[in-house]
Amino acid sequence: AAPAASGALHQMGKDTVQRLCAGQVVVDLATSVKELLENSLDAGATFVDIKLRDSGLTSITVADNGQGIDSDGFATLCRRHWTSKIQRFEDLESVATFGFRGEALSSLCTVASVSVTTATRESAPMGVQLEYTGDGELASQSAVARERGTTVCVAGLFEKWPVRQQDLRKNVRREYLRLVSLVEQYAIISDGVRLSLANQTKGGSSTVGVRTMPNTDRLTRMLAVCGAALRPHLVHIEHRVEGTGDADPGIAIEGHISRPLPEAGRGASDKQYFFVNGRPCDFPRAKRLINELYRSHSPTRFPVFAIAITIDSASVDVNLTPDKRTILIRHEPQLLEVLRLALTRVFEPDESLFSVSRVQ
Ligand code: ADP
Ligand code: MG
Repeated sequence: AAPAASGALHQMGKDTVQRLCAGQVVVDLATSVKELLENSLDAGATFVDIKLRDSGLTSITVADNGQGIDSDGFATLCRRHWTSKIQRFEDLESVATFGFRGEALSSLCTVASVSVTTATRESAPMGVQLEYTGDGELASQSAVARERGTTVCVAGLFEKWPVRQQDLRKNVRREYLRLVSLVEQYAIISDGVRLSLANQTKGGSSTVGVRTMPNTDRLTRMLAVCGAALRPHLVHIEHRVEGTGDADPGIAIEGHISRPLPEAGRGASDKQYFFVNGRPCDFPRAKRLINELYRSHSPTRFPVFAIAITIDSASVDVNLTPDKRTILIRHEPQLLEVLRLALTRVFEPDESLFSVSRVQ
């Protein structure tokens, strides 16, 4: 048996706590990039350019044309729990930004080297380059030329975390594909944003993972991500139930799903995207429900879908895990029922009670 812990109780040092917690925020390549992408979108960017070198092992650079960072924020930018997004716990109910925990940049400092170049409307074309220490403290600051916006560069990801670095090296292809899938979700939901992801390998060749154009509709962005060949196979689903009060909130479902025909589906369930109040998230129960419905029509195939759910934000808790992918919905049974109804109409198209239309 393992020896019991000995010694008196003591409070862990701040550094130890910081490193323990930081390890849960940026757990892999995909979450590292996701946090930076979310920050760019939160800053109101209409252009976000993600560049990886060597699949992120050498560096991750995310450049945006968002509002930039004010000089007041330079010293505290990468400190744990410093955020410009919420003030009080109650704000969580109405938070409209992806981030709010003030943990991403501080955690990235713990697992990699972080530098930031930024300029605001007021400072451009003058900007500043900032370097941070592993504790998230500002180490150096120098003037550079920069248009409005922010570029964050993360170098040497997991260098001091050998287990994670080894895992990333060993499974780099898989990890990269997981990242692409995640960025695709933000690409679909972010209208008005030109989003791109490219990877430059050691050999110098560059591959584009994601690229969308701004001011396109959701379907166009979905096709940019899932392949234009999907177009004839997609149906539009739209369904809305009015709420009658607290116990029964309004629910709206809108999106596209491939028809339950063998030629329309995929051999894997990899292109299935949910958004709850504009947040890409995992929703395993809804996913299972859809896949089961689909399977009864097309036993060996999985549908491709991007489904946006809108529900009263007070009925949703997004703060279950540091990555906020898990969402707790107070009225989940009602929601799943609405989803089931909307989909049944797609899969049995004779009943045209719901607004189901084939995409032209
Ligand atoms: P959070 O997003 O939860 O606030 P982060 O650690 O991700 O925490 O970011 C800390 C703060 O840094 C943000 O609240 C924001 O003010 C600022 N920030 C980070 N990235 C950017 C960016 N790309 N553009 C403008 N401000 C940014
Ligand atoms: Mg953030």
